Amino acid sequence: MTSRPANHANPPGRPARPGPVRDLGGGLHEVDTLTAGMGSVTAGFLIEAPRPTLIECGPSLSVNAVIAALRKLGMDPGDLAYLVLTHIHLDHAGGAGDVAEAFPGATIVVSEVGARHLVEPERLNASSRRVYGPLMDTVYGDCTPIAEQRIRGVADREVLDLGGGRRLDLLYTPGHAKHHIAAFEPDLGALFVGDSVGVKLPGMTMIRPATPPPDFDLVLAHRTLKRYAALNPEVIYLAHYGAVDPPQESLAEAGERLQMWADVAEAAYLEHAELDHVADTLAQRFADEVAFTADDPETEGRVRLMIDPRSNAMGLLRYLSKREERPPAR
Ligand SMILES: [Zn+2]
Repeated sequence: MTSRPANHANPPGRPARPGPVRDLGGGLHEVDTLTAGMGSVTAGFLIEAPRPTLIECGPSLSVNAVIAALRKLGMDPGDLAYLVLTHIHLDHAGGAGDVAEAFPGATIVVSEVGARHLVEPERLNASSRRVYGPLMDTVYGDCTPIAEQRIRGVADREVLDLGGGRRLDLLYTPGHAKHHIAAFEPDLGALFVGDSVGVKLPGMTMIRPATPPPDFDLVLAHRTLKRYAALNPEVIYLAHYGAVDPPQESLAEAGERLQMWADVAEAAYLEHAELDHVADTLAQRFADEVAFTADDPETEGRVRLMIDPRSNAMGLLRYLSKREERPPAR
């Protein structure tokens, strides 16, 4: 708060304008959440149907950009039927309480593993503050509580009926987090994967795995990627940011890069089991995944915000040390 220049009417995390909307065809719209006031950080996706559905809403501090974009698309307060959250990390779900308030008819759909944290978000907010630090006040903001009856906690293979013959198949897809789900729209072959495939922002040359603390799990992350491949999707939409193409090659790339990151982290960890060492090793080894370009001044800001190798190092270290505590598989 205090670091903000006095003449800056809107802090960077609170865009005043509606998030830009892109028509993806087939009644699907990409809604830019303008996270941190920047474009192409976190995508939301609106599916037109008798029961209109938004997938992801981004953090609380920028959610007004999403609400304004939905209004601009002609959605009245009673219109939104579902908000699907791929997981409860605040860069995806932080604005869910605000969306629930702006659209009183909407049901919030989330993994049954994470549902209770949206009813009582104190722990979620406190642990997010530990991870994000001062960015909680400038980029994310607290998640506000949502009434229990507004939330539908879902298990693997549940189906969301959007009406008019349109549906979303919901898959439990842990790895990135234990409360991660994906949504598959079978008519379009569109698979919405949140962070479970990784991150590829404009300016990045490769899909980078997202392996944050506290519950990243390498084995489950690989299993999730294999499951996506078996669905044979036509198109895969990352939350950060947008379509990756072609789908099968992208999934194969995501699996290879994930294993490379895990191998490099493990080798560094065995040399020296210290966070700084592992994070620095990863940052150096994978520096070529990002190519800053002068024609997009937001590239560097996006990358710094979303793909901090320190977060990957923390999650991988935690996974490696937890694995050591477990008895070996027989
Ligand atoms: Zn994310």
